[in-house]
Amino acid sequence: MHGTFKSLTRNTALERALGNALEGETRFDAFTRGRYSTDASIYQIMPAGVVFPKSEADVQAALTIAAEHGVPVIARGAGTSQNGQPIGAGLVLDFSRHFNGLMAFDAEARTATVRPGMVLEHLNARAKKDGLFFPVEPSTQSRCTLGGMTGNNSSGARSLRYGKTVENVIGMRALFHDGEAFSLDDGPVGDNASTRARDLMSRLLGLADAHRADIEAIYPKVQRRVGG
Ligand SMILES: Cc1cc2nc3c(=O)[nH]c(=O)nc-3n(C[C@H](O)[C@H](O)[C@H](O)COP(=O)(O)OP(=O)(O)OC[C@H]3O[C@@H](n4cnc5c(N)ncnc54)[C@H](O)[C@@H]3O)c2cc1C
Repeated sequence: MHGTFKSLTRNTALERALGNALEGETRFDAFTRGRYSTDASIYQIMPAGVVFPKSEADVQAALTIAAEHGVPVIARGAGTSQNGQPIGAGLVLDFSRHFNGLMAFDAEARTATVRPGMVLEHLNARAKKDGLFFPVEPSTQSRCTLGGMTGNNSSGARSLRYGKTVENVIGMRALFHDGEAFSLDDGPVGDNASTRARDLMSRLLGLADAHRADIEAIYPKVQRRVGG
């Protein structure tokens, strides 16, 4: 109970800083925070607030300001996860409202470039015009976003044939907590990644290597891990 009351306190300094910097909406009212405290799981955690970025500059500003205030961030697509992935006691970035466009579609190369908040069914409506479809189809395809699918390494009815999301994403543009952008488009420590990104990935893979024996002994052998 103590934790619940504490988390209901409104962080007005963070709210003001975000409101001044972002083009997209900033919502710290109890109703919005309550709505964003759940996903499709049994869990419920009240976030500090919610922002709806309209551009990469908005995302950068939200990350920088949250870091300055010592508040963690939680990215969110449609919020259809079943294990509490898009909820937490930090600042929620809802990508689905504005940051959801199709940036490029190349029927010949069979590739698309999307904003992370794009709903899968919207991408497939475009792909269908060229007789194509994105081969990962979660049951929630009319709601779920490409960003959320990537976060969850989503799968679908045809994943045994075509693979999961990880097998169908060629590259990603990502941001560090201070807003610096980097791309992951050539394998986990690809040649195109910045020194900082390569260092981060090397440390991550180093952790996996250091704990390889435990991971192999303890983790169940499953087709898909939601952690990606
Ligand atoms: C009835 C039901 C059926 C389902 N069926 C399936 C199924 O068949 N297959 C399947 O795989 N899943 C299924 N799911 C789970 C879920 O719908 C999928 O995993 C879906 O792809 C999640 O997408 P989302 O947009 O809702 O993501 P969210 O739940 O919003 O987020 C998922 C994760 O991605 C992260 N994330 C979101 N956007 C970004 C971003 N821009 N940058 C970085 N991280 C981001 C979030 O922080 C979170 O960790 C089902 C769920 C329900 C309720």
